[in-house]
Amino acid sequence: MLSYQHAYHAGNFADVHKHLTLFAVVDYLLRKNSAITYIDTHAGRGLYPLDRQETQRLQEYRQGIWPLWQARQGLKDSLLGAWLDKLESAQPHAAELSHYPGSPWWLSQALREQDALTLFEFHPSEHEHLNTQTLPEQARRIFADGLAGLSKRVPVATPRLCVLIDPSYERKQEYQEVAETVVQTLAKVRHGVLLIWYPLLPSGAHQILLNSLKASGVRKIWRSELKQRAQGVDQHGMYGSGMLIVNPPWGLDERLASAMADITPLLGEQSQYHSDWLVGE
Ligand code: SAM
Repeated sequence: MLSYQHAYHAGNFADVHKHLTLFAVVDYLLRKNSAITYIDTHAGRGLYPLDRQETQRLQEYRQGIWPLWQARQGLKDSLLGAWLDKLESAQPHAAELSHYPGSPWWLSQALREQDALTLFEFHPSEHEHLNTQTLPEQARRIFADGLAGLSKRVPVATPRLCVLIDPSYERKQEYQEVAETVVQTLAKVRHGVLLIWYPLLPSGAHQILLNSLKASGVRKIWRSELKQRAQGVDQHGMYGSGMLIVNPPWGLDERLASAMADITPLLGEQSQYHSDWLVGE
């Protein structure tokens, strides 16, 4: 039984990290004309009105997208500027941040005629919400397990593949399952670009994912981590957001580091950004 609902966390610092990284990767991919299949294994609702009861309960966006939105006129970084402009286009009233879009929206924005997008969501009511979104005709929504769905769909018909794996990690086994799915996917699509999100928790549970991938023989895994606060032994809850990008576009690291230099001061005194190769070439 799935219980996680992303509406409680929409627009938080982890969403900023994840969606900005996704936006930057896709921006590189769009420099070539050849067709791309995008697969989003854990899609969520697609769009989150910030005034909804679930989102208002924790108001995590106030320590995430909100300070960036407030400061947007003075931000210098071009990637961040382009991302915030896109975010503005998701608002019914341009000057007012009332909605935060999820990964299906960010990916839909990138779709060209030749591309395809498959969205998996396995929570009945989240899938219902996703079905109410207006998406381009190349976007397919599937009510099924995302990791199994990805495994069934590779190899794909297009020359290029870009996958976002963004589970809720409600079960600890998911870290291992994600690692296994990544290895299987790359065995069929060697040059696929895979983005994998994970939480930084005091338990260090994400090490299962990192260690398993390090031991797998997969090369070119770049790690990007945004910490909202320092890791305290007696603290609970997520203190940071991690992304792995397998086969990252060349130049992505510098581009993101520059955007993060603008972002971290806005997220609080303890906020820090770091990136490195988990596994090099
Ligand atoms: N990717 C979304 C975004 O960036 O806007 C957020 C996804 S949220 C972190 C995780 C989602 O995965 C939840 O909506 C949850 O219902 C869904 N989910 C959980 N288990 C799943 C599974 N086995 N297959 C597909 N979706 C699942």
